[in-house]
Amino acid sequence: MSDLATARKILKQVFGFDDFRPGQGEIVAAVLSGDPVLAVMPTGSGKSLCYQLPALMSDGLTLVVSPLIALMRDQVGQMRALGLCAATLNSQSSEEEAGETWRQIRDGSLKLLFVSPERLAMDGLTEALSRGKIARIAVDEAHCICEWGHDFRPEYRLIRQSVEKLGAIQAIAFTATADAAMRAEIAERLFDRAPKIFLHSFDRPNISLAFAAKDQPRKQLQRFLAARRGQSGIVYCASRAGTERLAEFFGEQGFDTLCYHAGIEQGRRNANQDRFLREDGVVAFATIAFGMGVNKPDVRFVAHADMPSSIESYYQEIGRAGRDGLPAAAYTLYGLDDMALRRRQIDEKDLSDERRRFEHQRFSALASLCEAVACRRQLLLAHFNEKSEPCGACDFCRGEIKTRDGTIEAQKALAAVYRTGQRFGQAYLSDLLMGADSEALRRNQHDQLKTFGVGADRSKAEWASTFRQLFAVGALRAASAEHGGFALTEKGDAILRGRETFILRADPPREKSAGKWSRKPAREIDEFASGDGKVFEALRKLRRELAKDEGIAAFMVFADRTLLEMAERRPATLDDLRGIHGVGERKLALYGDAFLEAIAQASE
Ligand code: ADP
Ligand code: ZN
Repeated sequence: MSDLATARKILKQVFGFDDFRPGQGEIVAAVLSGDPVLAVMPTGSGKSLCYQLPALMSDGLTLVVSPLIALMRDQVGQMRALGLCAATLNSQSSEEEAGETWRQIRDGSLKLLFVSPERLAMDGLTEALSRGKIARIAVDEAHCICEWGHDFRPEYRLIRQSVEKLGAIQAIAFTATADAAMRAEIAERLFDRAPKIFLHSFDRPNISLAFAAKDQPRKQLQRFLAARRGQSGIVYCASRAGTERLAEFFGEQGFDTLCYHAGIEQGRRNANQDRFLREDGVVAFATIAFGMGVNKPDVRFVAHADMPSSIESYYQEIGRAGRDGLPAAAYTLYGLDDMALRRRQIDEKDLSDERRRFEHQRFSALASLCEAVACRRQLLLAHFNEKSEPCGACDFCRGEIKTRDGTIEAQKALAAVYRTGQRFGQAYLSDLLMGADSEALRRNQHDQLKTFGVGADRSKAEWASTFRQLFAVGALRAASAEHGGFALTEKGDAILRGRETFILRADPPREKSAGKWSRKPAREIDEFASGDGKVFEALRKLRRELAKDEGIAAFMVFADRTLLEMAERRPATLDDLRGIHGVGERKLALYGDAFLEAIAQASE
């Protein structure tokens, strides 16, 4: 039997999957052939399987370098749930655990060992390991090696030395974010010869994308969450205080909430993360400190209460939703304040001019995605150099964004900036356009300008939105670091002089009656719950009980998708059950009877 055919058999027997996901088959084959491999695949595409499966098929140990202890613990838990011999060595392992792990390394029974880059570089580890048989080293989150990346971890630079000390074993690396320059950097710093590179689409068609300008942000968020009650999700906030305020507010609204940021004491922080991973239906309000360790397949939504810092971070953060491939939602709120804050942060960092320009560009890309008047997914993928058709599922494609030609309004706004000397902010300029009775305007004699009052037909909110959109598309820039003043860019000049047009998007109308939220579940849940609701709920309950008994996360018993398939197909025998997604031999033996009984009971 060929390696790949054997791999397929194990895929079904051990993992319970009928088929490889796109890209996995080729990568597994390359790994088994012994070549160095660099695979760039989006979050949730199943990177881990590409080293787990070969690890089972190879003689010797697969060493996995992973940046976070929480992530490792989780993976070890999942491997053990499948009946595989896996362990981690880290600062939190007890002496007893470590002793057992070393015994397994010596007798060759350990298949996967997870270590952090720091641990790997520590004195003596490679020496001790090289006494056993090491099949290969797999480096997870390999982009952490890149200096200009958003997750730079200097310890990653030490991995290469360890590989050499281990006798130039096969190295394989995985990441979800790496553009061409980063791929070159990873290839150079991690490998001793050119790796085979695999690139997989960044498309995550199951995540629907939506953005909204902040109007009444708490209400906007409430509307989004109310449609998703009972689901697990993450709400990212820019500040620690923000996470606490919102967690409390939504807790009072009856949501099962928790809070996570770097200011919370370590023990409680870990406990919170654990609770999020294990329990169903918890909403985490978090700063970006809540991230890489969140390897939970059934996160149904990711919302941004404040604007993320770049498209790359946005993509990574929303990527934590819908890893199981079922429908999930991403919702991002943004405002002029967010944009100004992010720009200021970039200006205040100690950076070279070149690097600063790069960071500003990176942020601009996100700002224009927020204000875009085109398919969000198409733009997002274009950012990663992928061509695609309009998705049909984002807010733009669903027709939720109204647009029209706004060149005239833009010209009025830009003229106001220009004629007042390019130093005033949005509030002042809106007053000018509306012809407001204002002491400040009179003092500067701006009530004498031709632009005074030319925009009296629109509201202040409309003008604010126009300025924000001009800023987002790069027609305006900040005049100085401290004040909120605007100056024209080249693009702004082109619009003002009629060489370019400007498409204006209407902000969503305000909610008229506060407090009356639609209870209609969100679209993606309708699809999600299309199976038999009663059976599905019964299975979820059983899963929760089993997970609690064993002290593991619910999804480690079975994934949502597995339960949905059971609810739909109603297997009656162990053999029927074997045919269902995610049911491998070990889980069949452990849980099969209990689930068959629950299905039979709930179907009566
Ligand atoms: P990544 O590391 O790329 O973010 P994971 O390795 O965590 O993604 O995989 C995401 C989810 O996909 C996991 O729940 C995993 O069990 C599941 N998965 C992986 N490979 C397959 C497959 N071939 N078929 C079905 N599900 C899979
Ligand atoms: Zn779309």
